[in-house]
Amino acid sequence: MSERIGVTILGSTGSIGVSTLDVLQRHADRFRVVALTANRNVESLLQQCLTHEPDFAVMADPVAAERLHDRLRAVDRPVEVLAGAAGLERVAALPEVDQVMAAIVGAAGLLPTLAAARARKRVLLANKEALVMAGPLFMATVRERDAELLPIDSEHNAVFQCLPPEFSTAGLAAVGVRRILLTGSGGPFRVTPLERLPDVTPEQACAHPNWSMGRKISVDSATMMNKGLEVIEAHWLFDAPPERIEVVVHPRSVIHSMVEYEDGSVLAQLGNPDMRTPIAHALAWPRRMDSGVAFLDFARLGRLEFEAPDFARFPCLRLAFAALVRGGTTPAILNAANEVAVQAFLERRIRFTDIAVVVEHVLERVSGHEADALAGILDDDARARAVARDWIAARAAEV
Ligand code: NAD
Ligand code: MG
Repeated sequence: MSERIGVTILGSTGSIGVSTLDVLQRHADRFRVVALTANRNVESLLQQCLTHEPDFAVMADPVAAERLHDRLRAVDRPVEVLAGAAGLERVAALPEVDQVMAAIVGAAGLLPTLAAARARKRVLLANKEALVMAGPLFMATVRERDAELLPIDSEHNAVFQCLPPEFSTAGLAAVGVRRILLTGSGGPFRVTPLERLPDVTPEQACAHPNWSMGRKISVDSATMMNKGLEVIEAHWLFDAPPERIEVVVHPRSVIHSMVEYEDGSVLAQLGNPDMRTPIAHALAWPRRMDSGVAFLDFARLGRLEFEAPDFARFPCLRLAFAALVRGGTTPAILNAANEVAVQAFLERRIRFTDIAVVVEHVLERVSGHEADALAGILDDDARARAVARDWIAARAAEV
């Protein structure tokens, strides 16, 4: 019988998924890949199945699942292929799975990530949108089911590393925390003249100065909506009131975040900007293991700089803080509007600066509710998407 730790990767063909497989491959004696999942990229998932030999492969798209099934049969590989949301939820909850990497992008990740928490897995959470949409519900599920939740987002992983273990039961105030300081690079447009922002292209927005990531989160980093989503994520992960969370712009992305204590101490976690560090940290926690990431060379690092975030340049950051303060399903509405707007920007149907305009428009028109039931959250998500699509269609008709 295998003593190895069984792992499911939701979103294995993405940036986080590929980094996770890289770390797992370095520790094949300790970890076993049980299931891999993707949206519709048959070739990528096929190659991953051949290399990592999972028991299950899931494609969200049923037609793609059929093609993958045929391709695997042709090469005589005994991988069970599943399809759709039910397949994703099933592999998140398999009894032989100990840890689930939640690395699907966007709202599509919510249900399988919740399924992993319900099944009492160690959930390695990269999919911040799930927590932004359904924070109270998700955290209640983790508590009630006694699941383990470890943050993969580099900032939250850094904060987790800078907190004493008692924080999760005692709370931040009891362990002397004054503020959580989330660092953010400011993205590729931190110093771009404001009048040029309307004309920046998806390629420019996706060319992040320090991190290599999927396209959606890259655009979010360029608008700093990513940092806004992370403020909401930090609120739920650490039970931190909004006024105790501060964003610090740190263009080099070497300090991944900090925790300030009442006595004036500030603890920071540093490292090269490579997601394999938080991934290895969460997989091995409470121990440590090699991640493949190069070690920091302080002599070559030079100067580290910091500045306050510019809310005029980055209106999405202001909107996210406001959504958090408003509470209920408002963060889910913000997230849904942003997902639709980012997709439209990537498809060149709206301008970069329209993203914040769409989000603000949707927040003004769609009113939030209590975020205590899944049906209500999904309902408000759908209403927000419809209003965002209408705005985008009207704009396209004008042009
Ligand atoms: P990505 O676009 O590179 O990959 C997304 C993955 O999700 C792919 O495997 C894709 O097949 C799958 N997917 C997409 N739509 C789906 C759907 N409808 N149903 C099922 N599967 C679907 O994204 P990424 O950069 O790896 O980011 C993944 C998540 O991790 C995001 O929530 C992001 O915010 C978060 N995150 C990423 C990074 C990073 O460095 N990339 C850092 C922190 C947090
Ligand atoms: Mg992050």
